Amino acid sequence: MTPLEDAQAFVLESCPPREAVTLPREQAGGLVLADVVVSTEIVPPFDNTAVDGYAVRSVDVATVPVELTVVGEIAAGAAPDRPVGEGEAIRIMTGAPMPPGADAVVMVEYSERLGTDGGETGEPKRSGVERVRLSESVSEGTAIRRAGDDVVVGEELFFAGTQITPAIEGVLASVNAQQVSVYPRLRVAVLSTGDELISDGSPLAPGQIRESNKTMLAGMLAEAGCEVVDLGVVRDDEAELERVLRAAATDCDAIVSSGGVSMGDYDVVKAVLGRIADMTWMQMSIKPAKPFAFGKLDGVPVFGLPGNPVSSMVSFELMARPALRRMMGHTQLARPSVVAIADHELRRNPDGKVHFMRVNGQFADDGRFHITPVNAQGSHQLAATASADAMAVVPDGNGVEVGGEVAVLLLR
Ligand code: AMP
Ligand code: MG
Repeated sequence: MTPLEDAQAFVLESCPPREAVTLPREQAGGLVLADVVVSTEIVPPFDNTAVDGYAVRSVDVATVPVELTVVGEIAAGAAPDRPVGEGEAIRIMTGAPMPPGADAVVMVEYSERLGTDGGETGEPKRSGVERVRLSESVSEGTAIRRAGDDVVVGEELFFAGTQITPAIEGVLASVNAQQVSVYPRLRVAVLSTGDELISDGSPLAPGQIRESNKTMLAGMLAEAGCEVVDLGVVRDDEAELERVLRAAATDCDAIVSSGGVSMGDYDVVKAVLGRIADMTWMQMSIKPAKPFAFGKLDGVPVFGLPGNPVSSMVSFELMARPALRRMMGHTQLARPSVVAIADHELRRNPDGKVHFMRVNGQFADDGRFHITPVNAQGSHQLAATASADAMAVVPDGNGVEVGGEVAVLLLR
């Protein structure tokens, strides 16, 4: 049996990052940067007010309350048309540029609009001089957002290997980065093999079962950020399988297939891939997902996952997902791992394998991640596994006692 680490190292080595491409920013969400992003613009582009209020000279509001003459108004998007002089204020809205002369902003909450005679409140008269009473003393710089205090020109914003999140997309837009250098999204073909599989909703004849793996794997691929090419269920027919695989290798960056890789299989997948691709057939020292095949068909990586649904899922998690992430430029390939506390025992027997037991868990008040195994651990029992949110990595032996520590991979 091949140790998991050896199998993983072999597969990762064979799946280097794809060549970088330059894409419009709108098409790059979720992809990984292949180059550092350096800002060519300054953000904010000018000093502006962080609040609605009155732009003033701070010396004029050193003693409050104080009455000032309102000499103008600046909305966001407008440009100041005059400075603020001694005894003056300009009404200003959040985001509007600071007028020259002013060095602080008093929030509108601390203001009272006065009539033209300076005595009564209410709407200012059209013809008269407008006055405002301010009741907050502000120091120089109050409520001003300085030009460049978010981003300056030449700043290295994001480094290669960073996945473009929605917030990063927002920053790229804010500095007018129209194009980015990224690793391209992978186009991945997925197929199931097996004469017993029914996927069209028709009644099951004796011996037939409903297909589940291709459906699951397509979703897992999409979740991993791949473009999915669904090749459906392929019969255990050599000519048909060869045709489908060859077409996939010309059209896609990777192929994920389920079924037909275990020891006792009726040998269609093995026969075809063994003949047309450069494959390595493995028995890994793990449970579930012991059988696994990896190779290249016309240079395109092929992941041969086992057919048992839980094995298929675990195999994708441990073997295919990290390799596909590497091809897409990620540097963090595996799921995050924490040391968890077993709230229920994780029982197993010694068999020379590492067991990946599906568990549910959460962080508790003690700051530790506490886990309980899902109630069925069979490799055909996808229903129980489907609700798991982590996998415990249980080393060879008799398992983990209640209260014992065990490493887990967090799946969500
Ligand atoms: P195989 O790896 O092809 O020998 O299949 C192992 C077991 O998984 C058998 O019980 C198959 O019927 C079942 N199986 C294979 N492929 C699928 C699939 N796509 N969906 C559900 N079960 C499957
Ligand atoms: Mg089969």
